[in-house]
This record gives sequence, C-alpha cells and structure tokens, in this order.
Amino acid sequence: MAFVCVAPIDESLPETIEAMDKAMNDWTDKAARGECAWICSDCCCSFPEGMPDKCAHGHQKCTDIIQRDKAMARGDVPPNA
Ligand SMILES: [Zn+2]
Ligand SMILES: [Zn+2]
Repeated sequence: MAFVCVAPIDESLPETIEAMDKAMNDWTDKAARGECAWICSDCCCSFPEGMPDKCAHGHQKCTDIIQRDKAMARGDVPPNA
C-alpha cells in the first residue's frame, strides 16, 4: 500500500490521523496473521516472521497487546469500524 503524507507538520489534520489509524490497523491485522513483519511499539524490537505469541522479553503489557491484536485479526473481537 502506498501511503504518501503531504500534510504540513504545523497543521493537525484529523483526516490524516484517521487514515494513518486505518493503515496501522491493516498492518496490525496482517502482522497478526504472519503476513508481514511486526514491530513492538513498546520495546521497538522487530519480528520479521510476524506477530509472535508473546513478547520476546516477557513483558506482560506487550503480550496483552499481542493477544488482543491477534483476537481482533481472527475476528473474535469486532473491529471499531
Ligand atoms: Zn519486548
Ligand atoms: Zn514488546
């Protein structure tokens, strides 16, 4: 997916944030299914194979996020449309 950001830095555009949110969710879903690499935003460690089952460092907070995102990707949790 091509995502080009042309918004000036000094202006806050809700539409841009929304588009970024959407792109972020799509990417999270893909990573949860192992279709693309995943980066933990908390530890900044990357998982080229996709989202792991739990944080590589045993962080409960990360594991909670992973489990939630995976449940969402499986459709167990309805996405906030
Ligand atoms: Zn970690
Ligand atoms: Zn982590």
